[in-house]
Amino acid sequence: MYSDTEPTRKPHLSESFSVKTLGHQRSASFMTTKADEIVENVRDAILSHRLLPGTQLREVSLGRLYGVSRTVVRQALQRLAKDGLADLTPGRIASVAQPSAKEAREVFDMRTALETHVTEVLVSRASKKDFARLRAHLKSERAAFAAGDWEAVRKLGAGFHALMAELAGNELLTRTLEELHARIALILQLYRHDYDSHVACLQDEHEEFISLLEAGSTKQAVALLKRHLGKVEQSLNIVDQQASDDLPLRRALQADLDDRAGA
Ligand SMILES: [Zn+2]
Repeated sequence: MYSDTEPTRKPHLSESFSVKTLGHQRSASFMTTKADEIVENVRDAILSHRLLPGTQLREVSLGRLYGVSRTVVRQALQRLAKDGLADLTPGRIASVAQPSAKEAREVFDMRTALETHVTEVLVSRASKKDFARLRAHLKSERAAFAAGDWEAVRKLGAGFHALMAELAGNELLTRTLEELHARIALILQLYRHDYDSHVACLQDEHEEFISLLEAGSTKQAVALLKRHLGKVEQSLNIVDQQASDDLPLRRALQADLDDRAGA
């Protein structure tokens, strides 16, 4: 089905290998690779809060940027939509998703349930090496905060939770949480969070959390996790709104309003 949309870019070595060995499958695997790259880059930009909810994802622009056909772009957009990161309304240009208040609450519920499980698993099976990795990650979070690199602070903050899931050793769960983290990044932007003002405290809690895991204190670790995630959720103003219409206006004016309120 992809034969009429051959990409013009020269294939990489690994791709030319598949040209010889896999024949017609080549274009399909190439497209998966390029679509993967687009999905990853878009997700990464969302996690760093560089890509805002509602931003248009034009097929032509993405195709030009990545040197791929619109079919490849569409494949990437469909995957982003499946992960809740893109809105694909028929007859309209695709855009970065704008989760509703209901979706936002569901995402937080799901995240808490999954991370509670991760916490329990980690208490029972995490090794010294795992704790060292968590501490190393926290160190990079603190370094980003000290350097005032906010994009990195946000991404690494979510990254701490992604690493916990990875260490728990369940790939499906890790992938699901990764998807949720990107959706949470959109929710944080859409519902005017004051996440940044909580970051130092959240990082301290990461440290406390590692100590509780290491001490085998399941109950206290789960309680801290719930407080920790609850703090992020409570810092949001999740109310139903016509987000798509007033987001640019709100973004433009909210900073001034915050300043005046001495935030
Ligand atoms: Zn955290």
